[in-house]
Amino acid sequence: MAYPRLIVDTKKIESNVSKIVALAKEEGITIAGVTKGFCAYPEIVKAFINGGVHFLADSRIENLKKIASFDIPKMMLRLPMISQAKETVEYADISLNSELDTIYALNEVSESLGKIHKVILMVDLGDLREGYFKKEELFNAIDEILKLDNIELYGLGVNLTCYGGVIPKRHILQKLVDYKNEIEKEFGIKIEMLSGGNSSTVHLLGTGNIPNEINNLRLGESIIFGTESAYGKHIDGTDSTAFQLEAEIIEIKEKPSVPTEEIGRDAFGNVPTFVDRGIRKRLICAVGKQDIDLESLYPLDKDLIILGGSSDHTIIDGSDSKIDYSVGDILAFNLHYVSMLRAMTSEYIEKIII
Ligand SMILES: *Cc1c(COP(=O)(O)O)cnc(C)c1O
Repeated sequence: MAYPRLIVDTKKIESNVSKIVALAKEEGITIAGVTKGFCAYPEIVKAFINGGVHFLADSRIENLKKIASFDIPKMMLRLPMISQAKETVEYADISLNSELDTIYALNEVSESLGKIHKVILMVDLGDLREGYFKKEELFNAIDEILKLDNIELYGLGVNLTCYGGVIPKRHILQKLVDYKNEIEKEFGIKIEMLSGGNSSTVHLLGTGNIPNEINNLRLGESIIFGTESAYGKHIDGTDSTAFQLEAEIIEIKEKPSVPTEEIGRDAFGNVPTFVDRGIRKRLICAVGKQDIDLESLYPLDKDLIILGGSSDHTIIDGSDSKIDYSVGDILAFNLHYVSMLRAMTSEYIEKIII
């Protein structure tokens, strides 16, 4: 058997997806299942589809290519690169946009491919990542888009809690609704989709604080792990353990918990700090920051303490464990989003999808 390895339980993911799809459905909200966190492995994407997502969404064309054969509408999440306009139209039915030059490029390739490409215009409601910040720019863009033969203005979208950490609230989402109403009146058109954000909006489900007109969410973290991302809370009836990492112990030694000589920078250029717990039993595992993120890695043995690591090593304090580990033993960990992302991206980790 090869280590480190990652075991992905698609039944748990499917169950999480169907719970949240059902919660959203009660409020007339469709779900775009976001596949970028696990590099859109098709076996996992299937769990999204079985769980009932209405769209598949990813930020990278390479991932959308992998799932092209699934017969379900696809969404390109990251603002398309003009240099990838052709692939965007080929592999996505819908893309999120905020630049007219890009939309012109999408129109041109759509025309040459004989397609109509759907566009969701992003509105920046304060998180300061992507989207139109000024109303006159948004309205001017719509004016221009309506002149294009191969672009359909499909919706408006917002993204929050990604850069600025702004937490979705009713009054913020209402601004998107107000834009929709104003646009429909001024341009005499119908805006089909109002996409109200990512997993940080999930905490509002069931509270009556999502305006009725919001009819879509784009969800990754919450449907994979069953955690909303505004406050990090667990969603009732979901399971956060679908991803389990196993890594092998390559050293066990008693050592002091603080170096005794002058301390400079560590392998990642940071000056480390230490808690002095005296002489401790330290385990080294053969997995590191190239493969996982130490902040989102949780040993199943709750008595282990992750001390730190380098690119290829994870150092663990095993003094309090009831288990007498030996070199060659395997430690298991649950992961959260960033570790999942790195582990799925790392070519050094074997993936076992069950
Ligand atoms: C990644 C992403 C999402 C999904 O985010 P989660 O927090 O995983 O739900 C939604 N929308 C956009 C634009 C994204 O880039």
